[in-house]
Amino acid sequence: MFKALVLDQQDGKTGAQVKALEDAALPGEDVLVAVEYSSLNFKDGLAVTGTGRIVSQFPMVPGIDLAGRVLESADERYAPGDAVVLTGWGVGERYWGGMAEKARLKADWLVPLPQGMDSRTAMMIGTAGLTAMLCVMALEEGGVRPGQGPVLVTGAAGGVGSVSVALLAALGYEVHAVTGRPETEAYLKGLGARELVSRESMAGKPKPLEAQRWAGAIDTVGDTILAGVLAQTCYGGTVAACGLAAGFNLPTTVMPFILRNVRLQGVDSVMCPLARRQQAWERLARELPASALGEIGHSIALEEVPDYAQRIVSGQVRGRVIVDLS
Ligand code: NDP
Repeated sequence: MFKALVLDQQDGKTGAQVKALEDAALPGEDVLVAVEYSSLNFKDGLAVTGTGRIVSQFPMVPGIDLAGRVLESADERYAPGDAVVLTGWGVGERYWGGMAEKARLKADWLVPLPQGMDSRTAMMIGTAGLTAMLCVMALEEGGVRPGQGPVLVTGAAGGVGSVSVALLAALGYEVHAVTGRPETEAYLKGLGARELVSRESMAGKPKPLEAQRWAGAIDTVGDTILAGVLAQTCYGGTVAACGLAAGFNLPTTVMPFILRNVRLQGVDSVMCPLARRQQAWERLARELPASALGEIGHSIALEEVPDYAQRIVSGQVRGRVIVDLS
C-alpha cells in the first residue's frame, strides 16, 4: 500500500483526498519510482481546485513534478536505486503524477538527477525552476547579455519568477522585479533584485510604444502586463513569455516588433526535448545558488496540498512549495 492524493469529480466538482492505494492500482508504465518529493506549481493548483481544465480523466493523482529513486525498471537506461527527476510530459494531467509515495512512469520522461543535486533540491527547482532556466536560455539566444541594461521579471514573487530573479542575478544581470505584493521587497532583494516595479504601474493598457527600459524580460503573467513589457523593451531586446497568471490574452500591436526589432520568444517546459532539458538541469545544478533556493522553497505534507492549491491559484504563495513524501 502507498499514500496518494487522489482527485475525483462529482457533479462537475473536483474533490481531493489522501488515500491508501495498492501497488496494483498504478498504471502499467515501465519504471516504478519511490517518490521522495513532489512540488506544487500553478498548474497543480488549477488541477487540485478544479479551476482550470487541466485533468483529462478521473481518478487522477496530481503532481506535474516528482523526484525520487527507481525501485524497478523494465528499461535498460534505469536500474533500481537511480536518482531521477521528472517534470511535465502531461504527468499529473493525463497520467498519474507525483503527489504519491509511488509512481509508474515512462523511462522517456525521466532525467537522471544531475551530479551533486539531491531530490529535495530538484523539487525546490521543479517545473517552475526548469522553466525559469529555459527562459534565461531564450534571453541568451536572443543576444541579451549582462551589462546591456535592466532585465525585467514579472510575477516575481511566484515560483517561476523567484527562480528567474535568483538565476539572472547570479549570472550578473541587473534584475528589476514586478510584484503585486510590496511586502515581498526584502525577499526579492535578497534573491538579487535591484529594484521593484509595482504591478499596478504595469497593469493599464499600454501605448503601442513606450519609453525603452528593458534589455530583456521574463514574463510569467501575460495579458496587458506582457503588452506593456513589449512596449517598453529596448531596441533589439528579447522577451521570454511562459505564463498566464494574469490571463491568456495579449492585447499588443506589431509596433515593438517592426520598429524596435523586439523578439517575443515563447517558452514551454512540458514537451521540451530531452537534450535541452538535460542541459537546463545541468546549468541549474551549477548556476543557481543554494542560498537562494533556501529562501525560495519550503516544504508541506501531502495532506496540506488542497489548502495550498487554493492559495497558489489566488496568487498568495511565495516562492516554491515542496511536497514531502520521504
Ligand atoms: P505562481 O502562482 O507561483 O506565481 C505567479 C505569480 O504571478 C504570483 O506569485 C504573482 O506574483 C503573479 N500574479 C498572480 N496573479 C496575477 C495577476 N492577476 N496579475 C498579475 N500578476 C499576477 O505560479 P508559477 O510561478 O508556478 O507559474 C507562473 C505562470 O507560469 C503560470 O501561469 C503557469 O501556468 C506558467 N508556467 C508555464 C510553464 C511553461 O512551461 N510554459 C511552466 C511553469 C509555469 P507577485 O505576487 O509577485 O505579483
